[in-house]
Amino acid sequence: MAFERMPGFHKLVSLWRIEYRAVAKEPIATNALDDSTKQLAARIVGKGIKKLEPDIAPIIYEGKAGFSGNAVKGVFRHLISAQLTAAGLPVCVQKVKASEGEVKGRREQCPPDNPCFMCTWFGTQSRQGALHFDFLLSVKPYKEVISKDPLPMIALDDETLGVAKGAFAVVISIKPGTEFQGMIRGENLSSEIIGAIAEVVEMSKEGFFKLGGLKTRGFGAMELEITSIKEYSATPFKLKKQYEGKELKKFLGECKATYHWLLGGGR
Ligand SMILES: [Zn+2]
Repeated sequence: MAFERMPGFHKLVSLWRIEYRAVAKEPIATNALDDSTKQLAARIVGKGIKKLEPDIAPIIYEGKAGFSGNAVKGVFRHLISAQLTAAGLPVCVQKVKASEGEVKGRREQCPPDNPCFMCTWFGTQSRQGALHFDFLLSVKPYKEVISKDPLPMIALDDETLGVAKGAFAVVISIKPGTEFQGMIRGENLSSEIIGAIAEVVEMSKEGFFKLGGLKTRGFGAMELEITSIKEYSATPFKLKKQYEGKELKKFLGECKATYHWLLGGGR
């Protein structure tokens, strides 16, 4: 696969800050594990929920509702690797998932000296990637973004928030329209990986970027928008260029074109 190779972690050429906003287009379900958060959510909602405690209530972090960077990274990783696979480009299966057996169209986890596009930018179990995803947090405080309408659901499984047997559950979600802010930091990024990120942002506009649980039940769609990109040179460390507005749009368009060229087999 003739993608542009990363110069390596030993050689710092450029540093990147990609700031983005995300707006919930559907209710969002995350699941706090502790009872005190569930009780807090129930107090905010304030209605007499027949059950004493909601089964699912949004995670709270620093007074905001949100997601770990890992959750965000997982959605980017899934969409980009599935797209590369559909384009017939070699992408490996992470060892942690390979236990389910061979996955058609994917190769085994890459050797360290020959990483695929995904391993290069997203890392592997044993080696960090070049992309770092910050927490994605609501702009407004927790109590203003959780929905006052608890949703009754049947048949949920605690772990996967998927189907379980004969259970009745109360879900407190994050309201549609809630705005979040996040950031992706990167080392030595190529225009191809920036283009791949921009491509996922495009998919989000049609509802294909889904975060949290209950995704198959009308939850989780988030619309993303890149608001600013800062490129720093490393020797010495200084801001090289800040892309915003029209210039940002042009830059993202160029990056997407190089990514599309890669998807087309580089010919
Ligand atoms: Zn790989």
